[in-house]
Amino acid sequence: MHSARRADDIAPFEVMEVLARAHALEAAGRHVIHMEIGEPDFTAAPAVVEAGARALRDGRTAYTSALGLPQLREAISAFYATRLGAQVPASAIAVTAGASGGLLLALSALVDPGQEVLIPDPGYPGYRQFVRAFEGVPRAMPVHAAAAFQPTLEGVRDAWGARTAGLILGSPSNPTGTMIQRSELQRIAEFIESRGGFLVVDEIYQGLVYGEAPWTAAGMGPGVIVVNSFSKYFCMTGWRLGWVVLPEALVRPYEKLAQHLFICASAIAQYAALAAFSAESIAVFEARRAEFQARRDYFVPELERLGLRTPVRPAGAFYIYADCSAHAPDAKRFALDLLDRAGVAATPGLDFGENGTRSCVRFAYTRGLDELREAVGRLREFCGG
Ligand code: PLP
Repeated sequence: MHSARRADDIAPFEVMEVLARAHALEAAGRHVIHMEIGEPDFTAAPAVVEAGARALRDGRTAYTSALGLPQLREAISAFYATRLGAQVPASAIAVTAGASGGLLLALSALVDPGQEVLIPDPGYPGYRQFVRAFEGVPRAMPVHAAAAFQPTLEGVRDAWGARTAGLILGSPSNPTGTMIQRSELQRIAEFIESRGGFLVVDEIYQGLVYGEAPWTAAGMGPGVIVVNSFSKYFCMTGWRLGWVVLPEALVRPYEKLAQHLFICASAIAQYAALAAFSAESIAVFEARRAEFQARRDYFVPELERLGLRTPVRPAGAFYIYADCSAHAPDAKRFALDLLDRAGVAATPGLDFGENGTRSCVRFAYTRGLDELREAVGRLREFCGG
């Protein structure tokens, strides 16, 4: 049967090969430490789980409005005010099926066929596919360690062409965990606004920032769209819930698309998420943030000692993007050998683009400290340290 070119052209995920091999090793009785997967090893806070169960028992399972439950949009707006000191009206917030649903709908409202969208390389692989889904042209924009693997105004200005519609970036970034400076982002937003373009800022890891005051790009300008999610900080990956903050002019076009393409996000997840902002739940999530920070603070220096250099210290998320060129000429080879010989699974850099990615691997510290210590022992033996 015929399948569309946009599906045929998608590059396979290298990490899937790692995952398949990890599963085969496990089936043969080996123990594997999984550091290739980008999701928290925690579940939602107890009050969220209870609110979800209550929604089910009470039959609160009907469609909601396309932009989400009004009380959830209000709760997210209040979260911006109390946590980030940002004034984001509930009317600008649309609840989505994860950040993925938000990116898909936002780009469906923004990208015309043939328009180019700038995407950081290395960066989250989904961005390319969301652009392609609407016949846009993803244009890789190399980002470098010197600028914390984030776009610079100069880079954006140089890359911007007659057909460029906008830029998508993630901060903290997947795979590097690094953040863009607020002042640089502001300058980029102003430049893009002067070109009539859009700036999508993926803040899915915004809740997981360590040792720096958190901030948001929401409200930074009329062309700025912020994407966020309950997946990471709130540890609700499988619940499929997120949100976007939209400029006023985009709310109605977005809403019409959302009505047709999704109808709404999961009602059960939305009722459950209302309990995510209570002091009790936030205390749970903050304890986990501290746990992630402790893991980062343990793992980064251990990797450095083994010659797995982290070009830029990650400020957030739960990823370490490490240079493995001291141990292998090719990161995929390194990842496969590391798995086979040491039973530690990591993601080859190639999944995140072409720019220097063949010498890097991503470790997700989504394992407890005990398992991380075990991983370091195995890495030490593997690297001959
Ligand atoms: N954006 C980034 C940078 C991610 O890392 C992910 C998931 O790993 C997503 C978006 C999609 O997340 P979700 O759809 O679960 O909210």
